[in-house]
Amino acid sequence: MKTGGLGDVMYALPKELAKQNCDVKVILPRYACIPEKYQNKMVYRGSFDMNLCSDGRSFYVGIMEYVWDGVVYDFIDNQEFFTNGNPYTNLIDDIPKFCYFSKAALAALNYMDWEPDIIHCHDWQAALVPVYLDTMFKDTPIGRAKTVLTIHNLRFQGVYDKKMISYWTGLPDYVFNKDALTVKWLDANMLKGGLTYADAITTVSGTYAWEIQTPEYGEDLDAHLRYHSGKLRGIVNGIDYDIWNPATDPRLANNYDLGNVLTEKRKNKKALQEELGLEVDDGKFVIGLVSRLTNQKGLDLVNEILPQLIDGNTQIVILGTGDAQYEDSFRYYENAYKGQVCSNIMYDETRAHHIYAGADALLVPSRFEPCGLTQLIAMHYGDIPIVRETGGLKDTVEPYNEFTNWGNGFTFDRYESGLLLDAINRAKTLYFTNRWCWDEMVQRNMDKDVSWESSARQYRDLYVDLTR
Ligand code: ADP
Repeated sequence: MKTGGLGDVMYALPKELAKQNCDVKVILPRYACIPEKYQNKMVYRGSFDMNLCSDGRSFYVGIMEYVWDGVVYDFIDNQEFFTNGNPYTNLIDDIPKFCYFSKAALAALNYMDWEPDIIHCHDWQAALVPVYLDTMFKDTPIGRAKTVLTIHNLRFQGVYDKKMISYWTGLPDYVFNKDALTVKWLDANMLKGGLTYADAITTVSGTYAWEIQTPEYGEDLDAHLRYHSGKLRGIVNGIDYDIWNPATDPRLANNYDLGNVLTEKRKNKKALQEELGLEVDDGKFVIGLVSRLTNQKGLDLVNEILPQLIDGNTQIVILGTGDAQYEDSFRYYENAYKGQVCSNIMYDETRAHHIYAGADALLVPSRFEPCGLTQLIAMHYGDIPIVRETGGLKDTVEPYNEFTNWGNGFTFDRYESGLLLDAINRAKTLYFTNRWCWDEMVQRNMDKDVSWESSARQYRDLYVDLTR
């Protein structure tokens, strides 16, 4: 299930952990939108009724299992909660859904008699797991497990009326204090509670781990995170080379590797231009942008300067869906600059692969970016990232230094459109006037290790530390 980077992570990390000799199980909701071909392969592992709410209301928990690539996937089945097409709908429905999910996941582990050493939870949707484990599940077989809670994006926290969360979770009153779940007297914050009770907190880059302890990036939890900073650390994400590999990617017009990127990538550029109705010319500078179109992603900056990028030698390809204001402005630009700007307002995995393979540069000017995967994918596909120096972007893209001819991309620091324009212009200048330096950077980027191997090893080390 993928709505963004978390989907990539939860596909790749367990697989890599299994390779590194961990016994891994992934527990996730059985969302109705999982394609039928997978639903049909799931095997029924059992079911039971579980008490959930404070008035004793109970719910069915089914466990459907699917084993793939060394990883066991257990899907929590409940038609009442997970029938809607999308994983996330609106907060009023999502809150009970994920209260149920967190408790059901733990109950399912006990039911299956599978006692993990570590339970690794991701984002607010699973943040109640450490809270349940330390309270209602403490004296059950899984009670001795340690917990890790990873923040993939601090903006989303699962905050709602305290009474409602108290009702749906059935958790004891004492967890609703100001050091755990309660915020602003009357609300409860599921992520905050998880951060309090987790044995370790991680986030997806070192810089973001530091940034979220400041008021600017802390989304009102900076003080709480500073308090818990002793158990907080950053581990940067990788990308899955089984999916993201230009040498074997079945979606590409022409596969290429480090040895032939300079000749073969051009063919992918032409294929992309043809597919999108842009002027077909491999001499053009093609800038890609693959992103959720939300306020996080720095799109106001792009909107402000886009007309200034149009010079007859530059093409801009956008792929994304999200807020109407950005969808509309990008549609407008496509219309205004036909043949030079192409806005694909859609979610389309294949097209994303085509863009990474065909573009020269990829734009990620985010306001904040916990890790960011698109710049990693871009580098692996031989694109030069143009990024804002924040979060994981800062940790993974070393700014190009023209004096030493070293670096991975072009960067800017403050959130200002003029600085973005400047970074793009520096990229363009290198591309058009000093191509061999550009080409060397392309090859350097493709050679950079952005795989999951070393990140997964860091998680594994953390797990081992916690169980000592
Ligand atoms: P976030 O998790 O904030 O959305 P990331 O950079 O961590 O951002 O991950 C984005 C992932 O989603 C990447 O794999 C990217 O290719 C993919 N993606 C984003 N938008 C689209 C889209 N419109 N179509 C296809 N893939 C997309």
